[in-house]
Amino acid sequence: MKLYEYEARNIFTRFGIPVPRFKTVSTPEGAREAAEEIAGRVVIKAQVLVAGRGKAGGVKLADNPDEAYGYAKQMLGSEIKGEKVNKIIVSRAVDIDRELYLSIIIDRSIGAPVILASPEGGVDIEELARTKPEKILRIVVDPIIGIRDYQARQAARFLELSEPALKKAQEIIINLYRVFDYYNCELAEINPLALTPEGGLEAIDAKVILDDNALYKYPEFSSELVRDLTYYEAEAKKMNFSYVELDGNIGILCNGAGLTMATMDSVYVLGGRPANFLDIGGGARADLVERAVSLLLQHPKTEVVFINILGGITRCDEVANGIVRALEKTGAMKKIVVRLKGTNEEEGRRILEENRMYVLEEMDEAARKAVELGGRR
Ligand code: GDP
Ligand code: MN
Repeated sequence: MKLYEYEARNIFTRFGIPVPRFKTVSTPEGAREAAEEIAGRVVIKAQVLVAGRGKAGGVKLADNPDEAYGYAKQMLGSEIKGEKVNKIIVSRAVDIDRELYLSIIIDRSIGAPVILASPEGGVDIEELARTKPEKILRIVVDPIIGIRDYQARQAARFLELSEPALKKAQEIIINLYRVFDYYNCELAEINPLALTPEGGLEAIDAKVILDDNALYKYPEFSSELVRDLTYYEAEAKKMNFSYVELDGNIGILCNGAGLTMATMDSVYVLGGRPANFLDIGGGARADLVERAVSLLLQHPKTEVVFINILGGITRCDEVANGIVRALEKTGAMKKIVVRLKGTNEEEGRRILEENRMYVLEEMDEAARKAVELGGRR
C-alpha cells in the first residue's frame, strides 16, 4: 500500500529525517491560513498517489497566502492523472542548490534491501537508470544485520557533498533505513532530497510503500486500508467479511469460503451470474447478518439475493432474524432466495416464511430459483 506524501512525511519527521514544515488541508481557506502561519514562500502539493505530480500541475510555488489560496482552489477537486485531489499540503518552500536521490527498496531477486543513491535526483529514477546508470549507486544490505555505518558513509559520499552536508546525509540514510525496517516497507524514498545553498539537507518529497502482508501490524493505517475500496468493500471490511465484487446481478451470501465458492459455481452452471462473493464466516449473529444482507440489498447491481447457510455454530434463526431486519430497514424490494440447513432450521424457516420469502431445502433447487429470478446471462 502506497502512503500519501503527508503520511510519509509524518513518519520521516518521527524518525529524525529533516522535512520542511507543512500543513495538510482540504480547503482553499485552510491553505491560506497555513501559508500565513508558515510565512514566506510555500509549495502547494496535491496529495495523490500517482507519481510525477510536478509535471502534471500538482506542485506549485506560491509567493504569498493569496497565491496559495488560488492554487489550492485550482487543485482541490481537480484530477491529477485521473486521481481526484481531496487534500493538499502547504509546505515551506525550500531554496534548492541541487536535488539528490535516496531510497531503500526490496530487491526480490536477492531477497534483501538495497540502498539506492544518486547525486542527480528530482527526475524519475527509472529514467536516470536508463540514461545515466553510472549515476546510481546500489548497496545491498544484509536484512539480518541491518545497515552498517560504512554503507551509509559510502552512499553519502556518492552524493558529491562536502561537510557538513556529508555527515547529515549519512544520518538521513541510516534513519531512512530505520523507517524501512520498522514499517516493513517495499520502498522508502526521498526524491528529491534538497541540498540548500547553506549546505542543509531537506526531504522535500516522501514516498513510502508498505508491504500489504504486514499491514495488520500497524493499526494507525487501518483507515488507509480501506482507501482503494468501493463503499461496499469498505463496509464489508469493517465487519471482517470476505467480500469481492463481480459483474453479475445475483448477490451471494454464505457462511464459509468453501460453501460460498460452491454456491457461486452452482449459479454459474445454471447460467446465472453472481454479483459478488460474500462469506460472513462462522457463528454470525442476527446483527451481522442484517448488515451483510443490507449491503447486498443496497448494491445497485444486485437484483436477487441468494443466501445459502449451513447452520453449525451459525444458528438459522439468528440468520432469519437478520434477513428480516435487513429487509425492514432498507425497505428494498429485491427478491431473496434462502436455503437454510442445520441448527434451529425449523425456527429459521418459520420466521422467513412468515415474511413471504422463498425458503428452499436443497442447494440445487435454491440455485435454480435464484437464476430463474435473476435471469440467465
Ligand atoms: P513529484 O513530481 O510528485 O515527485 O513531486 P515533488 O515533491 O518531487 O516535486 C517535484 C519538483 O518540484 C521537485 O523536484 C522540485 O524541483 C520542485 N519542488 C518541490 N518542492 C519544492 C520547494 O520547496 N522548493 C523548490 N524550489 N522547488 C520545489
Ligand atoms: Mn518527487
